[in-house]
Amino acid sequence: MDISIVGAGYAGLLSAIKIKDVKVFEENKYVGIPPHCTGLVSYVTVNYLGDIAREVITNEFKGLAILDSSYKELFYLKPYPKIVRLDRIKLEVLMKDQALNNGSIINLRQRVIGINSNRGRYSLLINRNGNIEDHQSDFVIVAEGASQGLSVRLGLARRHRKLFLGFQGYADAGSNMIDYIHDDTIVILLNDKYFKDFFGWIIPVSRKKVLIGVGLPIDHSSKLYRGNSYSSVINALVADLYRNRFISSRTIRKSYGGLIIRNAPSTRHFLYRAISIGDAVGMVKPFSGGGLYTIAYQIEILSKLIHRYMYDYESLWSRYRRYIERMVSQLKSQERLSNLLSRIGLEAAFKMFSSMGIVRGLETFDFEHHFEYFRNKIMDVFKGANILRFK
Ligand SMILES: Cc1cc2nc3c(=O)[nH]c(=O)nc-3n(C[C@H](O)[C@H](O)[C@H](O)COP(=O)(O)OP(=O)(O)OC[C@H]3O[C@@H](n4cnc5c(N)ncnc54)[C@H](O)[C@@H]3O)c2cc1C
Repeated sequence: MDISIVGAGYAGLLSAIKIKDVKVFEENKYVGIPPHCTGLVSYVTVNYLGDIAREVITNEFKGLAILDSSYKELFYLKPYPKIVRLDRIKLEVLMKDQALNNGSIINLRQRVIGINSNRGRYSLLINRNGNIEDHQSDFVIVAEGASQGLSVRLGLARRHRKLFLGFQGYADAGSNMIDYIHDDTIVILLNDKYFKDFFGWIIPVSRKKVLIGVGLPIDHSSKLYRGNSYSSVINALVADLYRNRFISSRTIRKSYGGLIIRNAPSTRHFLYRAISIGDAVGMVKPFSGGGLYTIAYQIEILSKLIHRYMYDYESLWSRYRRYIERMVSQLKSQERLSNLLSRIGLEAAFKMFSSMGIVRGLETFDFEHHFEYFRNKIMDVFKGANILRFK
């Protein structure tokens, strides 16, 4: 049985490691480049990925401070297990090596431009140095990321409804970041004026350097955010952080970013002998857009079932569906709550949580299940009052 994977990003490479002996097609010349991801996960994900993740940990964080737009600390959360930052470029390089060791083949600079189904087999049309080649395959895993072109055409995914532009870059730390850096603390910025539906972040990377970032909703019709260009919103945030001494100069270096997905996946992202995984199908946490944990969970299920039931796709998908359903329904309820919070404004909502004592000054929480943490908190308050009902 010949298994092909489209895309050698995090999801494609992890599948190539776990499933073994597959052929991966990647349009870029190198894996991990261009970078887009911040690389924050908890030790739950690190332990799942194993040594390749442990080798690329750049920072370990003991706290997460949530600040309002006047830079007042609303809460200080202590993650358990701890949060780490992974060097995402190095991670993908090590993943590629491990996939090769596991018998998989990684074809770089080969873009899959079409997939046709023909009598139970798939024909992948591949653009290789301008020549179009045909690769036959029995099973296709589409791990093409947020671009989604093939997944939508194959009927494996719906177009993402909620896309955000994630922008980040390195800056020199200002005096108000020193204590957070010393305490290995990530700063989350809430600001309903600049980014009502998402948040900004300041992540210590060394004693003097931070990574600052923000997520802004994409309005395809106008390319503007609330009437302002993205760059003017980012510049205003940088100026504000500078004025408030969170960064010591307005220069942002090595900026990078990409598309953050904030809608939940549909349960049915498979058909015959094809499946869409990772960002392509929205296997991410809609509140933060973080996908490294949820994608690992998806691939763990798929890789355990695929060899056993490859020729019997009905059994494969009935089992896969049973296992993935729990995660999908959690992500769907996360999307509903995220939508509600976005409508209120994240800053207004979290200030309300603070004033109502829903979240107190210092608490322990699970980073990979941050949504369940907040949901349970809200439910505790409204229990009995029957004000809010989430599944
Ligand atoms: C700014 C930002 C910050 C983030 N921070 C975090 C974080 O801190 N923690 C976290 O858990 N998640 C984070 N995420 C989300 C996380 O990065 C993604 O969920 C994850 O990288 C998705 O992996 P993927 O393999 O599905 O997609 P991608 O990493 O996008 O990989 C897709 C690959 O497919 C290739 N490709 C696409 N189409 C074709 C084609 N037709 N033929 C051949 N190759 C193709 C692409 O070149 C690419 O290499 C962040 C995302 C962004 C944008």
